[in-house]
Amino acid sequence: MLKKSLAPERLSIFDMLKIGVGPSSSHTYGPWKAILLWLETFSVEKTHQIKIHLYGSLAKTGAGHGTDIAIIMGLLGEQPETTNIALIGQKFQQVVSASSIELKQVKTIPFVYSRDLIFHFDQQLPFHSNGMLFEAYDHEGRLLSSEKYYSIGGGFVAQENTSTTKEEKEVQLPFPCNSSSDLIRHCKDNNFSIFDMVWANEQTWKDAETIHKDLIEIWSVMKNCLYKGCHTNGILPGGLEVKRRAADLNSQLSGGMKFSNPNDWIKYIRNAPASFSKILKWISCFAFAVNEENASLSRVVTAPTNGAAGVIPTVIMYYLCFSEKRFETEVKEHEEQAVIQFLCIAAELGTFFKKGATISAAMGGCQAEIGVSSAMAAGALTECLGGSVEQSLMAAEIAMEHHLGLTCDPIGGLVQIPCIERNSMGAIKAITAANIALESNPKNAKVSLDNVINTLWETAKDMNQKYKETSEGGLAINIPVNVVEC
Ligand code: SF4
Repeated sequence: MLKKSLAPERLSIFDMLKIGVGPSSSHTYGPWKAILLWLETFSVEKTHQIKIHLYGSLAKTGAGHGTDIAIIMGLLGEQPETTNIALIGQKFQQVVSASSIELKQVKTIPFVYSRDLIFHFDQQLPFHSNGMLFEAYDHEGRLLSSEKYYSIGGGFVAQENTSTTKEEKEVQLPFPCNSSSDLIRHCKDNNFSIFDMVWANEQTWKDAETIHKDLIEIWSVMKNCLYKGCHTNGILPGGLEVKRRAADLNSQLSGGMKFSNPNDWIKYIRNAPASFSKILKWISCFAFAVNEENASLSRVVTAPTNGAAGVIPTVIMYYLCFSEKRFETEVKEHEEQAVIQFLCIAAELGTFFKKGATISAAMGGCQAEIGVSSAMAAGALTECLGGSVEQSLMAAEIAMEHHLGLTCDPIGGLVQIPCIERNSMGAIKAITAANIALESNPKNAKVSLDNVINTLWETAKDMNQKYKETSEGGLAINIPVNVVEC
């Protein structure tokens, strides 16, 4: 039995894969989007003062996860999809040092960081751990607006009793799917692969040409993120002094070769001889690259969250560069079609976790982030490598099963340790799960994907609050750190 508390949602694949800014979908992208939504609801011109209150996990790990930066960028009217990444730090510092902000680039009002952005470390709103209260006042101190928003994971934003996500508006899909059993039924009845069914459903929102174009844009952001992360050295921001490792690993694995663009780099990796241990090292290299970029507030694809953004691109790179089908994807058009198929299946599987459990670490710990991304990647890789619908669902189930109970305890409240390496582990489990499923008869499986999604939800409810993105347990309190505020 799946989670009953939610009405059936109609989620597009683009709700699960979003172009945004690191380091956190729930603590950066969600609050940013919430501020932008809020600014649409009252007169900015009449506003003289604002107060932003952060509660629960947003207060406890918000500074490390860039929530304050996201809030300020949102107040400035910047969009996470298009903002100039290189200017984020500068814009944030300008607001803090000037003690004023140009609200939505329309009106400049006083904004004192230490007074008007309030972290309620010991309070939590009942609806969800990631709660926010936004207040606006006019020049006589009268309240113009007071709204609560919740960042419910994966960049989704909600208000109590009201869905504020365009994603959840009612649409009629030709093949409505809320669980893996729905999916099996539709595929059997129509002789569909998972990809066929997703493609048919997705055209409820966009025409085929636009879906194709938008997925290629997502792949392009992933590819650039992988490439940039593999060619950037240095120390990650936040004060933990974590050294970036992807660039050194990339240089070592590619024998110091220099490349001028991501496509030449991928071509080299695909054609170079690779032992088992070298493939394992490349997997870590790809995952580190994406998540080092994510930790640096760079542009990433939320898939389905930012902390877990490295798993899906890493498994796609495995598929394109090391799987038995790698040479079939060598031609640009073939690579694009292969990636489109992969992304559609992965995103569809992700919707089952969003609907039936959670993709929020503040609700379910890291099993809901890395575990879900691993399951999404495992199912997609299986169908892309020729597996049946049932084998793909089996792979997703296996990947999730072996992440159950995984806690979220980021050191210093930063999305760095254990997060970066955890993406490498999630990717490896996805590849292993796909390979197990491809050699198995799903009829013999004892646990279905729906069973494991329900187990994820039950485990999330049982999990101690200190392991839900609060940095109050686990590694976060057992490793002494001296994080300098930045
Ligand atoms: S431990 Fe996992 S869930 Fe928590 S911040 Fe890191 S990647 Fe996200």
